[in-house]
Amino acid sequence: MRIAVPVKGRLREPTVALLAAAGLGPEEPGERALAFSCRNAPIDVLLVRAGDVPEYVQDGVVDYGVTGADLVRERGAQVTQLLRLGFGACRLEAAVPDESSVTTMAGMSGLTVATVYPRLTNELLPADVTLVQVSGSVELTPRLGLAGGIVDLVSSGSTLRTNGLRSLGVLFESEAVLIGREPDVTSPLVSMLRAVTEARAHRYLMFNMPESALDKACAIVRGAQAPSVLPLAEPGTVAVHALVRATDVWRLFPQLEAIGASSMLVVPVERMVA
Ligand code: AMP
Repeated sequence: MRIAVPVKGRLREPTVALLAAAGLGPEEPGERALAFSCRNAPIDVLLVRAGDVPEYVQDGVVDYGVTGADLVRERGAQVTQLLRLGFGACRLEAAVPDESSVTTMAGMSGLTVATVYPRLTNELLPADVTLVQVSGSVELTPRLGLAGGIVDLVSSGSTLRTNGLRSLGVLFESEAVLIGREPDVTSPLVSMLRAVTEARAHRYLMFNMPESALDKACAIVRGAQAPSVLPLAEPGTVAVHALVRATDVWRLFPQLEAIGASSMLVVPVERMVA
C-alpha cells in the first residue's frame, strides 16, 4: 500500500507524527528522503509536494494521500475525502488594504484580486473580479500596485495585519485531510487513522462526587456516552468516568465543581473507536 504525504511545509511533521501515533512505526525520514517505509505495516510513504498529492491519488500512483483540503479543492481532483485529520487548520480569506473603501466580499466587484488559488477564488468569491495569479507573497501585491485585493490562506490573521490588510470574510475553511480514490470504509489504514484523530478530539474525565448529585453530573457531561458510575468505599459517594470532547473540558470543570465534584482528573485517550 502506498500513501503520499507532504515532503515539506507545515503539514509534513504532523503527518509523520500521525502515522507514528497510529502505530505504523514510520522509519525516521532523512532530510532529503523522498520515500520511507513503516516498520509495523506493509506501507510505503512517498514524500511529494502537498499540491501534487491530489493528482497522485487521482491517477492511482498512490492509494491514499494526506494534504490540505484547500489544495484538494483547488486542484479539482477526482478523489474522495476520507477523513479530516484535525491539524493544519486555516481559512481562505478575502482581504483589501486598510485604506480601501471596500467593506464586503460582494463589494470586491470590479477589483483586481491576487491569489495562489485561482480556481477557489473564481468559484467562491461572489464578485466579478479580475484575477492575478501569483505563486507566493500574495500579501505584498496590493502594496506593489498589482492588485486591489487578495485571496489567501490565513491562520491567525497576523500576516494580514502586518501587511496593512483587512479581512472581508472567509471563503473556505481548510484542514489536513486523508484522501483516497473512492469511499473506503473497510480499510485498516483509514480505521487506524480515524481511531487516532477521534481520540485526539476527546478526553477521559474522572471525578468523585456525592451520589445525590449524580443526575446533575450526568446532565452536565451529557453528549458523552452513558458515563460509568462506580461506588466508592465511602458510603453515599461515587466516581464518575466519562468520555468528553477535549474542547468542552474547560467549561465542564467549574460546573462539576459547583455541584460538589472533587478529585477531578483529565486523561488523554490514545485510540478510540466509537
Ligand atoms: P505549506 O506547505 O506549509 O506552504 O502549506 C501547505 C498547506 O498547509 C496549505 O495548503 C494549507 O492546507 C496548510 N496550512 C495551514 N495553515 C496555513 C497557513 N497559515 N498558511 C498557509 N498554509 C497553511
